[in-house]
Amino acid sequence: MAVQTVAGNATTASPDLGPAAALSCRECGERFELGPLFACASCFGPLEVAYDLPTGSSEELRKRIEAGPDNIWRYAPLLPVPADVADKPNLNPGFTKLVKADNLARELGVTGGLYVKDDSGNPTHSFKDRVVAIAVEAARAFGFTTLSCSSTGNLAGAVGAAAARAGLRSCVFIPHDLEQGKVVMAAVYGGELVGIEGNYDDVNRFCSELIGDPLGEGWGFVNVNLRPYYGEGSKTLAYEICEQLGWRLPDQIVIPIASGSQLTKIDKGLQELIKLGLVEDKPYKVFGAQAEGCSPVSAAFKAGQDVVRPQKPNTIAKSLAIGNPADGPYVLDIARRTGGAVEDVTDEQVVDAIKLLARTEGIFGETAGGVTLGVTKKLIEAGVIDPTLTTVVVNTGDGLKTLDAVSATSQATATIKPSLDAFRAAGLGTA
Ligand SMILES: *Cc1c(COP(=O)(O)O)cnc(C)c1O
Ligand SMILES: [Zn+2]
Repeated sequence: MAVQTVAGNATTASPDLGPAAALSCRECGERFELGPLFACASCFGPLEVAYDLPTGSSEELRKRIEAGPDNIWRYAPLLPVPADVADKPNLNPGFTKLVKADNLARELGVTGGLYVKDDSGNPTHSFKDRVVAIAVEAARAFGFTTLSCSSTGNLAGAVGAAAARAGLRSCVFIPHDLEQGKVVMAAVYGGELVGIEGNYDDVNRFCSELIGDPLGEGWGFVNVNLRPYYGEGSKTLAYEICEQLGWRLPDQIVIPIASGSQLTKIDKGLQELIKLGLVEDKPYKVFGAQAEGCSPVSAAFKAGQDVVRPQKPNTIAKSLAIGNPADGPYVLDIARRTGGAVEDVTDEQVVDAIKLLARTEGIFGETAGGVTLGVTKKLIEAGVIDPTLTTVVVNTGDGLKTLDAVSATSQATATIKPSLDAFRAAGLGTA
């Protein structure tokens, strides 16, 4: 078996990554052997995983998936992971709840069915556990011994936890001024956590330098040199939503945008399901959500531009605060191709939406969830999202990590002496 040397200086025999056949350039289509590569050697375009997808009948594949474990590994035949992935030590994320949000639907005037895909139910309480689980398999396959990332918060926690479970060292990088909940979550798993004096884009630039330096030798950066594999984890959101709808495509789906990876890969997942005959082919619309204080993709969409101009983020939605989103142009393509849109909301609207979801459905989302629901509401009111169609809103994280957003307006209704008289005086009883 040929041994290849690849970027990042890890060495490996041909890696076993299941149905993954090669990396292919999203811009020029050139193919490369599987390895820790992320940019095309010819045109610097981003690389993505190309597959030999299953060839049997769609009925067989559906049965095989349904018989699989209650986590993302039920879709292993469609992911860059070895066939025995479920037997390895990992966090087994996924198969989170798809909540039929009837109370919220009534409030928003949606009659076609409104669902919240609640990814706060993952092991470290955000959708990032999905992408990290795939990156861990790539790191193992390429012989990396340290797992790393540049993070807006949730990714650092997901990497720390996954590395702990997989028995890998971890060293993760975050902007120094993140929410306490995210910092603690990133540190508690025992890996190294480094705060960088700068914003996410500074952290990301630093990590790119570290990859090229001997200091970072043997390191797998899940969202940099393992990015093509990492991204594939988001396809499982698409698979689960369709399976949970009874193997049906939603009509409309609203997804938050940080780098834009999640949105582009959910679309890729939906396309694969159509190609494999697992769902009936029909039109669907993809909507992207940003916070006004970091809205480079939304600004480009509204201006009718193909180029995403970087911004300096200033929003409470820190998990989405990427001013220079790598997949921004692809998000624009998808929103335009499907007839969707990209929109943004103010921090005040984010807070209102967090409380709306909590009040109507008992789901406490983080600020990113507030962005997504806030944008959904705005687009329904603007007549852009059709209330008579089936709509899925993705809640990507847990409100316990961003308590500051709502703590000022979510306090005890009253503080009283432990007596009935005091309670009566507070006016909260029935009589
Ligand atoms: C990372 C993140 C996203 C989106 O990430 P992409 O970079 O666009 O894939 C959305 N929500 C939360 C809570 C996140 O942590
Ligand atoms: Zn290329």
